[in-house]
Amino acid sequence: MKMMDSVVGTQVVWFRNDLRVSDHAPLFNACRRAATTGDAVLPVFIVDPQWFGETSYGFPRVSSERARFLYESLVDLDRHLSKLGGGIRLFFGDTVDVLSEICEEVSEPTVSFHQEVSTEEKRVERRLRKHLAKFGIPSRVYSPATMCDWDEVPFSLPDTPEVFTKFRRLVEKRGVFSPPLPPPSSFTPHGVKLADERILPEVKQFSLFENTGVAEDVSPSSRRSEFFRGGIDAGEARLKHYLWDTDALSRYKETRNGMLALDDSSKLSAWLALGCVSAKRAMHEVELYEAERVKNDSTYWLKFELLWRDFFIFMSAKHGSHLFRSGGLQDKPIEWIDDRILFEAWCEGKTGYPLVDANMRELRETGYMSNRGRQNVASFLTKNLGLDWRLGAEWFESQLIDHDPSLNYGNWNYAAGIGNDAREFRWFNINKQASIYDPEGDYVRHWLPELNQVPIQWIHQPWRMGESAEQLSQCTIGVDYPAPIVDLFQSAEENRKRHDRALNPGRKHSSQQLLDF
Ligand code: FAD
Repeated sequence: MKMMDSVVGTQVVWFRNDLRVSDHAPLFNACRRAATTGDAVLPVFIVDPQWFGETSYGFPRVSSERARFLYESLVDLDRHLSKLGGGIRLFFGDTVDVLSEICEEVSEPTVSFHQEVSTEEKRVERRLRKHLAKFGIPSRVYSPATMCDWDEVPFSLPDTPEVFTKFRRLVEKRGVFSPPLPPPSSFTPHGVKLADERILPEVKQFSLFENTGVAEDVSPSSRRSEFFRGGIDAGEARLKHYLWDTDALSRYKETRNGMLALDDSSKLSAWLALGCVSAKRAMHEVELYEAERVKNDSTYWLKFELLWRDFFIFMSAKHGSHLFRSGGLQDKPIEWIDDRILFEAWCEGKTGYPLVDANMRELRETGYMSNRGRQNVASFLTKNLGLDWRLGAEWFESQLIDHDPSLNYGNWNYAAGIGNDAREFRWFNINKQASIYDPEGDYVRHWLPELNQVPIQWIHQPWRMGESAEQLSQCTIGVDYPAPIVDLFQSAEENRKRHDRALNPGRKHSSQQLLDF
């Protein structure tokens, strides 16, 4: 059924994890074409029930924090698009079914979108492309929105280096970062309401929260750090604050391992994950800052970290579902332990190791955890508790406001020692890490109020307090705060042996030393 006779055709722009108007090749090019052909532009977003439900271990796939961030991002995208011509058009349902119905309803559709790299998203893309091809509907598919241009990198996808340093050197040498695209100037919107179209508040009130396993209440909660507000404007404001307003970027290399202060690191991850700010845009702004204000190791280091992001996205595109196997990219046959009591202690921040517990409680409260924290809790889960890394990765998926499958599962592969460049058994010694990165115990005290009165010499090892110190600090170990659930070194040694057996099944004893960080 053709609804609009006045326009020639319809440029359908399918928004995914790219909720912005600048640096958006599908939108930019669709508008450019529309300007010459007289086509209407129809920006669509589809809330697919597949996103919700539960992970394989039964955790809600999307926390209310992330759902809220998505909702806010959609509202802001709608506002920006409305200024250009017409707002986002919202649909619920199976993505391919919905896009097929839209294409039936509008005149001469062309569908444009950014590719994604993760298995589920690729499956949807394959189904969609098959459907469009069957009905002769043109599509314009753009490479994933990374900093590196996919057609400029000096290797084919199957030849992407497995080691980050090699990847980085190759792309830095080639200089494969084109500047971000500007927003389109304006477009003629598709003016007719489509059959199954919804309105944005519906997302907030009902459907986005159906099946998420979390409360449908979306009013500001005490759990959520007010700081993480979804949308283009909030992401841009964060970029401005971190670079231009505070010069925090110029100290990034020194502060990035901090866990407590908001400006210890850029905190751009959630906006990058939903694409409210593109990685290219962030990189470009850093380069502008370098040209106009300061260029130093810190400014380079942020670009270096953004390259890690690209690396994991390339790895995910290259290895597909291998990223999610028990043995990870290396397919190591490690016998992970299945112990839900240990796992729950980890999730709830009750392991008896304050650094782990504080980080896990921060995650539950805010949906965020620093990179230093993530490295430590992931090492603890896999190298001390010996639990299947996918339990941890799925818990992160469920809780993180910045969840990105390539970055989450890629980093977990590395932390679990099953990523492609993993060799010897490396683990983070929680006591050592705590003394380096939280020397005064401020971070732990912030998230574990029960340890507030514990003197500094025991703050990271409260089980060492004697009875009188426990009384003075009003913290009895085993009552107010748990005793350690495992012995740090003994558990690391047992897990080292387990990893060793997976690599050398016939060998009885290993001479390898226990290396800690
Ligand atoms: P900054 O230090 O300011 O870094 C700037 C940007 O660089 C980040 O926003 C991110 O896009 C990128 N970056 C930084 N560190 C890494 C890294 N190790 N790997 C890839 N990219 C990086 N990040 C996510 O965005 N989503 C995830 O789901 C995610 N899961 C993780 C799971 C584990 C086990 C680990 C160890 C790390 C994970 N990270 C993930 C990477 C990293 O911890 C976060 O990107 C970072 O802590 C976010 O804070 P920030 O924006 O202040 O980072």
